[in-house]
Amino acid sequence: MPDPATALIDKHGRHIDYVRLSLTDRCDFRCVYCMAEEMTFLPRKQILSLEEIYKVASAFTELGVNKIRLTGGEPLVRNNVMSLIQDIGQLPGLDELLLTTNGSQLEKLSSPLRDAGVNRINISLDSLNAEKFKKMTRTGKLEQVLKGVETAVASGFDSIRLNTVVLRGINDDEIVDLLEYAMGLGISIAYIEEMPLGNINDHQREDTMFSNEEVMAIISEHYALSPIEMITAGPSRYYQVEGSASKVGFISPVSHNFCESCNRVRVTVEGRLLLCLGNEYSTDLRQLLRDQPENSELLKQSIVEAMDIKPLRHYFYDEEQPQIVRFMNMTGG
Ligand code: SAM
Ligand code: SF4
Repeated sequence: MPDPATALIDKHGRHIDYVRLSLTDRCDFRCVYCMAEEMTFLPRKQILSLEEIYKVASAFTELGVNKIRLTGGEPLVRNNVMSLIQDIGQLPGLDELLLTTNGSQLEKLSSPLRDAGVNRINISLDSLNAEKFKKMTRTGKLEQVLKGVETAVASGFDSIRLNTVVLRGINDDEIVDLLEYAMGLGISIAYIEEMPLGNINDHQREDTMFSNEEVMAIISEHYALSPIEMITAGPSRYYQVEGSASKVGFISPVSHNFCESCNRVRVTVEGRLLLCLGNEYSTDLRQLLRDQPENSELLKQSIVEAMDIKPLRHYFYDEEQPQIVRFMNMTGG
């Protein structure tokens, strides 16, 4: 039985205590930066069952992981997802259960999620203009998401953060409006640089790339931001909006590389343990889960061994590295 204090330390000395689990590749939205307009989703037998996902979550917590984020695709559109979330919420050793969602189901599910032990949620929101929101999500309804955000605020999560992917010429004119919306609700917001994951057909990513330095410069014209020391071990930096409860995060996977302190891995809904967002290094856990469904020791062993292939860093927009064809909904953001 591997020692949970040391089991998940990779070859570069990084301790993995955070896992992002993708609960589905499907989604009720088709955000232009995340998916192509026509998407083919995985056949049912290729995706992990709820029970298999639970086994994976359980193995990780037994190996010392204390933080799990549930994501997708849209995690809340998976059938019977609440029963899985309730079960994961009970896992011994888990300190934080987090969720990333597009908000479409939050009016209905905020309260059950809180009761299931979800501490913090990130809600994607790229525009406050109904028409633009529709254009960016292709199928989303702004009003439904805003109701979801407001219900979540009333449900007493430890923290709520909006996630905004900024695209030049599309929603860069709403940077301050979105911040003020968050400030009005007493929640935080993070601006995310678009990553080149998957071949999309809506725009050329090089044309819409909007750096977080530019976002920061725009906000600084309106509000004073003071840096906060937050150990997130990810590609994000946080600032307090002076005179407000809201924090502003900048997630810069493209312009910054924080890989030396990376503490996380991802498991796709196909059961692929991805060691890095921007690389294809992975281990197939599904085969193992299906060949030996009762062998939790073997599952843990395979996770431990995978630590050896966690790469030191990722490379986006590097001509010497292969282009990632995996879409974000397959990756688990
Ligand atoms: N459906 C949920 C949502 O939208 O929040 C969870 C999954 S989504 C893939 C997770 C996060 O990834 C969202 O905040 C989304 O905006 C972001 N995202 C998707 N595609 C991206 C891309 N190409 N570059 C940067 N962020 C992206
Ligand atoms: Fe769906 Fe989230 Fe991707 Fe948008 S970003 S298409 S909501 S998975």
